[in-house]
Amino acid sequence: MASDAWENKGLHAVLAPSWIGDTAMAAPFLASLRAAFPEARIEAVATPWTAGLLERFPWLDAVHRVGGEGSRWAGAWSLRRRLGGGSAEAVWLLANSFRSALLGRWIGGRRLIGYATDGRGWLLTRAVAPPPESPPPHLVDYYLGILEGAGVRPSVREVRLPVQEEDARAAEDLLAEVGGADARPLVGLHPGAFFGESKTWPAGEFARLARRLAREAGARVVVLGGAGESEMAAKVCREAEGAAASLAGRDNLRILPALLGRLDALVAGDTGPLHVAALVGTPTVALFGPTDPRRTAPRGAPHRVIRRELECSPCFERTCPLGHHRCMNDIGADEVAAEVVSLLSARSGPVRGEENR
Ligand code: SF4
Repeated sequence: MASDAWENKGLHAVLAPSWIGDTAMAAPFLASLRAAFPEARIEAVATPWTAGLLERFPWLDAVHRVGGEGSRWAGAWSLRRRLGGGSAEAVWLLANSFRSALLGRWIGGRRLIGYATDGRGWLLTRAVAPPPESPPPHLVDYYLGILEGAGVRPSVREVRLPVQEEDARAAEDLLAEVGGADARPLVGLHPGAFFGESKTWPAGEFARLARRLAREAGARVVVLGGAGESEMAAKVCREAEGAAASLAGRDNLRILPALLGRLDALVAGDTGPLHVAALVGTPTVALFGPTDPRRTAPRGAPHRVIRRELECSPCFERTCPLGHHRCMNDIGADEVAAEVVSLLSARSGPVRGEENR
């Protein structure tokens, strides 16, 4: 009978989450896996929109891209060959879908490990029972639970992503273009939300926040976002009347950690950049609406969460089913500015706004 013992130098294939924020919160899982198997090869399978971030994770030896435009299976056919032709020591499933279990089976290995969700338990060699939903587990712990369920000690619960020098230089160059290279304090705003409009806070409130932070804290404010969020970022900057500059569409996932690491604080909804900022140790003010901070609020560095207690929240819907979007619209710029100023002062002593109080 084949031995059940782990092979220290084996190959571990990790089917990574599909969202940037979830990927950032999977970092302790990957760091723990690396700590448990320091001589192993650990390779991630990722979507094109998260691969750039994973390529910056020091716990991985390689990142394979699958899916994208046209077919989510694009690139999967050669994956089995690239990942050892079925000889992986373990294939770890961080995604919960039936489809990810099929992809794991296709890659092949001694172990196929993941939560027993979406009717796929019979496909796995180790089907881990999902944790109770009440209270909801934090996503970091949820991922670590997969390791625990497979008998591997999750030794890293908090981790910081180091920023690479070349990325730091690229981030500085980008900031220099908008006069932010030497600016202190430097505050980032991220008004977009790939998930859907229910997570967005009004552009007008972001603009008011920028004006207050520039006026009262002497902050240089930059607005971040992807190419598809350029219009919204431009609207924030227009309404901020010179108090903010847009970098939307100018960065990419590879330099995003360096750019976020350069900030003294970031204000964002429950989105990818929020969690990447937390991963590089940047303090955040997180605006939570339709999602649950118990599950995804940043942990580690000093972070603040602003949230309205509404009967309908969290609903996890992409657009507000009630039409009023009060969970985000009821949050005011003054309240957010106070949290940012308090974070900045905790980081570097009283800022202009607090001294004047
Ligand atoms: S239903 Fe409630 S929690 Fe959901 S988006 Fe609307 S206001 Fe927000």
